[in-house]
Amino acid sequence: MSNPIMKESLVPGRNCGACTMCCIDLTIDTPELKKLSGKECEHCTDNEGCNIYSNRPTVCRDWNCLWMIKDAFGEEWRPDRSGLLLNFMVGRDGIPDSYNSQDVIDIRIIHTYGLVKSLKFLDFVCNFIDGGVPILISISGGPGYAASKVFLNDGMADAVKSRDIEGVTKELQKAIQAAIDHPKKRVEIGGE
Ligand code: SF4
Ligand code: SF4
Repeated sequence: MSNPIMKESLVPGRNCGACTMCCIDLTIDTPELKKLSGKECEHCTDNEGCNIYSNRPTVCRDWNCLWMIKDAFGEEWRPDRSGLLLNFMVGRDGIPDSYNSQDVIDIRIIHTYGLVKSLKFLDFVCNFIDGGVPILISISGGPGYAASKVFLNDGMADAVKSRDIEGVTKELQKAIQAAIDHPKKRVEIGGE
């Protein structure tokens, strides 16, 4: 099924630079490139990003985080700086049928809770929940394990409606803790 937002073009002049967050965090299982979640791709470098960036495989070219396609996210939102890997999720696992938006946002918390506590972030979450866009908060499972995901919208609906920032923060913290406590599930890829 097509996803109109996923077809949006990249922010002009924006590229991954030194960031390799998706290259470490995500599972890739294609004939041209395989890697487990939480393990660095063999092409990651410490400070210069992907060492084959201009010739990276199609799977890498076709996947972009929200920072790459949404101008509204400034430089501080680049995933290696913010610790948040925001993306439009493929599939609807964990999303109630009552939500018919084709866009599902996955907020993956990677290495800091800094921006999660910011008003900017809370505003971002509230706006999407107001608009009926499903949001999942997810916590990386570590090498070889899937991220744990928790659906945010229903639990936060009342607090968002009344713009109760304290309530929104509390519900968000509950969801993060639930994702942390969720049992881990191993990821398997072809040949591993
Ligand atoms: S997380 Fe975004 S900015 Fe970072 S490497 Fe992936 S696509 Fe590029
Ligand atoms: S090939 Fe490059 S862009 Fe693709 S996952 Fe590896 S480091 Fe990232």
